[in-house]
Amino acid sequence: MSIRTPTAEQIKAAKDKFEAVITMAAGMYNIPDLSRRVTLTFYSHGKRAGYAKRLLSGNFLVAINYEALAVDYNDTIEDTIPHEIAHVVMFITKKGRNHDKVWKQCCMALGGTGKRCHDLDLTPAKRHAKYEYRLIDGSLRTVGPKIHNKIQRGNRGYHFKNRGGPKLFLFAENFMRVIY
Ligand SMILES: [Zn+2]
Repeated sequence: MSIRTPTAEQIKAAKDKFEAVITMAAGMYNIPDLSRRVTLTFYSHGKRAGYAKRLLSGNFLVAINYEALAVDYNDTIEDTIPHEIAHVVMFITKKGRNHDKVWKQCCMALGGTGKRCHDLDLTPAKRHAKYEYRLIDGSLRTVGPKIHNKIQRGNRGYHFKNRGGPKLFLFAENFMRVIY
């Protein structure tokens, strides 16, 4: 089964909605630089409609599932976007966490339903999985399934291209986890 993709109009509508909810949240929660601190991205793997996370830079990412946008357009626009932005507001204000009461209030104030899950029937696309490895210096690298399989099959390690830096080798035992 292949992934269903949204139209350009649907993507544009998601971006517009994202901007509108960010503006609303910035005003409501007095976070004037919110729009500079949150980036919207789209992804096409896994069954979740979206997620929000804190980046190493201290900024935030709101990720929306492409397929969810195509399959369940209204819910994704009207609920998933406020849902994930409410998570970011909680990360910043630290007033609530996960799907607690404070988060729920925030989600609803931003126009979402306040429901914790998105029951969507999305295509499980394992071929899009990423595989995380920890290098000897402690840094993390992710590779796609082809390289992962090569590393796991071989015993000499995989020479990782490292622009200008020292040669990096990934070995089977450096494997940490699968990211969907
Ligand atoms: Zn959530």
